[in-house]
Amino acid sequence: MKAARLYGIQDIRVEDVETPSSPQADEVKLKVLAAGICGSDLHNYKTGQWFARLPVTPGHEFCAEVVEVGKKVTRFKPGDWVAADSRANCGECDFCKSGRGNLCRSMGFVGEVCEGGFAEMTVLPEKRLLALPKSIPPELLVLSEPLGVALRVIHQLNPAEGATVAVAGGGTIGGLVALLLSEVFHHPVVMFERNTQRKALLHKVASFQEADLDRESLQSVTEGNDVYYWVEATGSGAVLQQLVSLAGSGSRICLVGLFNGDVSLNVNRLVEAEIQIVGSSVFCDEQAEAIRLLPQLAEKLRPLISKPIGLADIPAAYQKLTTEQVDSLKTVIIPEV
Ligand SMILES: [Zn+2]
Ligand SMILES: [Zn+2]
Repeated sequence: MKAARLYGIQDIRVEDVETPSSPQADEVKLKVLAAGICGSDLHNYKTGQWFARLPVTPGHEFCAEVVEVGKKVTRFKPGDWVAADSRANCGECDFCKSGRGNLCRSMGFVGEVCEGGFAEMTVLPEKRLLALPKSIPPELLVLSEPLGVALRVIHQLNPAEGATVAVAGGGTIGGLVALLLSEVFHHPVVMFERNTQRKALLHKVASFQEADLDRESLQSVTEGNDVYYWVEATGSGAVLQQLVSLAGSGSRICLVGLFNGDVSLNVNRLVEAEIQIVGSSVFCDEQAEAIRLLPQLAEKLRPLISKPIGLADIPAAYQKLTTEQVDSLKTVIIPEV
């Protein structure tokens, strides 16, 4: 079968590999229906930061059809559609046992510590799989993973009912956060995003006002009112510094963008204005919640995905996504294209 294989920094190839054999007792053999390229896949390709084994088949955002189940598998049967839970956590540590598996003491990711979904077939343990409805096309079902990440951000931010939320960065996660806030949770949203094509795309799926990252621009859209809930989805230190200066007293800022190195902050402002900064990492149960929201959101999500590409196109897509601005929020792979 064909699979994409990551060999090292900036080295991904599509090769013929052996089709996985029958699954172990607790495993499920899967035919991949669609997969999504994530910003973290590209970050790993560029920097090697999360290399755990090489070569490896990347891909932690995918949906698949069950083709064979191991002897002990009870929740799935051949023909079912499933999503991968991207977290390869241990399930045994104190965090995993207390329902905070995103903080696992030996956290890894599917497609990094084990083979992922950029292949015709793959195998995962039953516990790494979530059931999917067949009423939604596979290319939209791959969004259950990043939607789970976006839901986690909203839970961590925990905005007061109806409060305005300012979102810095309209990439995949920032865009999905804006979509969920406006369409599901009914919050007014202010978006900071410089890319005009991206903004135009997001306007098709979410309701938000645009502002520049300065006080005058922000106050012109909020009619002079302060904003108390903020999402940082750019990973830019300069943006975070600006959010700290713009945030009203008693604000909460949720960080989901990954930064390159340390950022210096006006910490006295955090103290004196009692500004809280909270992180948000992957998700706990939010992917399952995202799957429950998919029927309501599916058609909203369609404009955000690319025209599907095939496995053979992955190296060129990685190259393009790491060097050029692309308009879609999610590049989708369909192995059979
Ligand atoms: Zn991802
Ligand atoms: Zn654990």
